[in-house]
Amino acid sequence: MSAKRTSKNVLLDTALKNFYSAAEEMRLDDSLVEVLSHSEKRLEVSIPVEMDDGTVKAFRGYRVQHSSAIGPSKGGIRFHPDVDVDECEALAMLMTWKCSLAGIPYGGGKGGISCDPQSMSTKERERMCRGFAARISPIIGTWRDVPAPDVNTGGQEMVWFMDTVSKLHGQVEPAVFTGKPISYWGSQGRTAATGYGAATCGLELLKVLGKDPKDVRVAVEGFGNVGSYAALKMAEAGAKVVAISNRSGVYYAPNGLDIKKAFDEAEANPRERLKGFTCEGCKKVDDILSVDCDLFFPCALEGVVNDKTADRIKAKWIVEGANGPVTPEGDAILNKKGILVVPDFLANSGGVIGSYFEWAQDLGGYFWTEEEYNNRLMHIMKGNFKLVWEYAQSKKINMRRAAFMAAIQRVADAVKLRGLFL
Ligand code: NAD
Repeated sequence: MSAKRTSKNVLLDTALKNFYSAAEEMRLDDSLVEVLSHSEKRLEVSIPVEMDDGTVKAFRGYRVQHSSAIGPSKGGIRFHPDVDVDECEALAMLMTWKCSLAGIPYGGGKGGISCDPQSMSTKERERMCRGFAARISPIIGTWRDVPAPDVNTGGQEMVWFMDTVSKLHGQVEPAVFTGKPISYWGSQGRTAATGYGAATCGLELLKVLGKDPKDVRVAVEGFGNVGSYAALKMAEAGAKVVAISNRSGVYYAPNGLDIKKAFDEAEANPRERLKGFTCEGCKKVDDILSVDCDLFFPCALEGVVNDKTADRIKAKWIVEGANGPVTPEGDAILNKKGILVVPDFLANSGGVIGSYFEWAQDLGGYFWTEEEYNNRLMHIMKGNFKLVWEYAQSKKINMRRAAFMAAIQRVADAVKLRGLFL
């Protein structure tokens, strides 16, 4: 094996270190470590865009395909000034493990454009999207690489991408992108998928621990897409959701909040979300991490549970709805305190499983009802939770390490079966 790869980019360096250490513990063959520590393709493109004032600006765009061992690469497209090719590679690698663990037929990819979309007009963003789709079109496709939304991209961007590729190919190409609006080849059920999936992991955890949801107090940080649906499903299952939070503050009621009311108010007022929310016994407090609860769902930001904050956590169990809410230092403290963590790439995989459902429906040209979608999602989430739980128990390791090892093993098996040719 050649020397281990390192990177100046913190995200990529961490992704590589995590991979090498899991590979060592699994005693993964050197040749497989060599293959999986490198990405299959790292594409960088220039996208000239005519701005509204008549000047031309060249934006840098990227698409990285880490692995297609299991199937087409899958992963979002991010618009942000800090996007670069190393960051895309780190996130593409994580997508490989996430799709593998989810048991869906995809590898991992990620892309983005270094830009500040908030400072651009709709027409400028449309021209940039179409230019980007045309530039990366030789390497993406229904059976090659299927991008999706990420930070600062959504349904509208996916439609511009899809329309551009369709026009280049002279035929409608719905399954090249997922995360499209329901009105244009999108899928029922996708909006709630990640939050419902995270809550399903929470409920499965309570089941294996022999706890009744009715006896469990829940706190949810972040009442956006993921957090609000996770809170709603936990409340529907009978759990007492004692705290929720968002940018406007932390809302706490020791006897339980009226989550349906909070959800409806937030939906009715998408700009302000919870601002001004109140219900019986509800008061505002400063810190959601130190709220007295049993099960905590961090569903907002990266790195909130870290070396400075992990000691404040009172919960016994954590289900990571957000990506990377617990830092490695925070994780070490939680481990010492005996707090059990259901890791992000299991707990929030409802989103990518939902993308897979959209792709499958687009391929068939036949759409499912929301009920069919949710039943299939719950079935897969429960199966994946069981797989990781049992793997962790049998190897006497925590769920994060178990999830990582199970995911790597499936990709390694596919590489072994297929051989090294390209
Ligand atoms: P969102 O923008 O809909 O919601 C984020 C929420 O966090 C908002 O309610 C916001 O007010 C809140 N927030 C921001 N700063 C906060 C703070 N300091 N304290 C408390 N709350 C704060 O985003 P989302 O789609 O729900 O994504 C949340 C996380 O889940 C991100 O890490 C994202 O990468 C991850 N994730 C999302 C999906 C998905 O399908 N949406 C899938 C996988 C992972």
